[in-house]
Amino acid sequence: MVVRVGIVGYGTIGKRVADAVMRMDDMELVGVVKQNPDYESEVAVRKGIRLYTYEDKVDKFERVGIKVSGTVDELLRSVNIIVDATPDGVGAENKARFYEPMGLRAIFQGGEEAEVAEVSFNALANYDMAIGKRFVRVVSCNTTALTRLISAFLLHGYKIRKVRAYIVRRGADPREFKKGPINDVVFNPATVPSHHGPDVMTVIPSVSIVTMAVAVPTTIMHLHMVNIEFDGLVSRGEVIKVLEETPRILLFNSSSRKFESLAQVIEWARDIGRPRGDVFENAVIEDSVTVFQNELFLMQGVHQESIVVPENVDAIRAVMRLMDKWSSIRKTDEVLGLITEGKNYALA
Ligand code: NAD
Repeated sequence: MVVRVGIVGYGTIGKRVADAVMRMDDMELVGVVKQNPDYESEVAVRKGIRLYTYEDKVDKFERVGIKVSGTVDELLRSVNIIVDATPDGVGAENKARFYEPMGLRAIFQGGEEAEVAEVSFNALANYDMAIGKRFVRVVSCNTTALTRLISAFLLHGYKIRKVRAYIVRRGADPREFKKGPINDVVFNPATVPSHHGPDVMTVIPSVSIVTMAVAVPTTIMHLHMVNIEFDGLVSRGEVIKVLEETPRILLFNSSSRKFESLAQVIEWARDIGRPRGDVFENAVIEDSVTVFQNELFLMQGVHQESIVVPENVDAIRAVMRLMDKWSSIRKTDEVLGLITEGKNYALA
């Protein structure tokens, strides 16, 4: 079966998911919804992507010579599933206005409240819970990274007592010129926990996690400083092995390979030819991996613009019952060019 996918909201996340869907042989990108005939619309048309817009906006596109294939209603009537990648809160409005009354299936993003969907999703953690569901929410970039890391150990049979994570958030995405801070460290929020810990628990309810976050003037990646306390002794060697063989987690070595900052992780992605310099994987800094008895400490970089892309692809497969968990994760990784060498696609 080839699933017909539509995308509503063609911004940072939507355009990447659109490209990913176009590369999957079990999916067809029917089209994307754009509100404005801007440079992104023009690029989409150049890539052969069909544009749809709201009825009262069709004229706007025609006036500047950008071809529109139809209205939003027409797109929604011709797809099996929607990926909604609109700004925080708009997805819930779209659900009430379109998807629910039209009986459509939809994947939402992490800026929506958990209640928008039946399942908050991360492929490693709970793929099976999304199978056949109508509304699924792919959790945010920070939550995805924390959930993957915790899942790596749970999938290897480790018992976790608690997780504490300190998050240094990027202030804005590279293309956002109206956001900050430009010279500050913003408490995000000042109260504890930040929303990230409770959000991880929407995917893995059994984990005890507390997070704190600040936002800083950078656009490239988030940085997490994570402390995991296990129920029993662990060794650094075991931890490295878990991280090496878990899909969607990569180790970046500072001493031998000279990765000394997150900018260099992005540079690596550009150098190996990743589209837009995307880093779909958790970028764990290998030298930071330190174990004291039953406690693990590490740092990881999180490329906010792209980390949720593989999860959106898997969420489509789960909802549409296209494939089992590990077949989907492996296929997504192979097609999108994630590093698959040494990865185990048959973890428990
Ligand atoms: P974005 O602002 O880059 O893109 C959203 C797009 O949706 C814009 O092009 C906007 O014009 C369009 N849009 C707004 N209202 C619309 C409507 N009613 N119909 C059609 N299009 C509409 O936002 P983003 O960063 O891609 O975020 C999208 C979602 O993904 C949010 O829930 C966000 O929290 C989540 N998310 C973002 C990031 C990130 O770092 N950018 C990471 C993970 C998850």
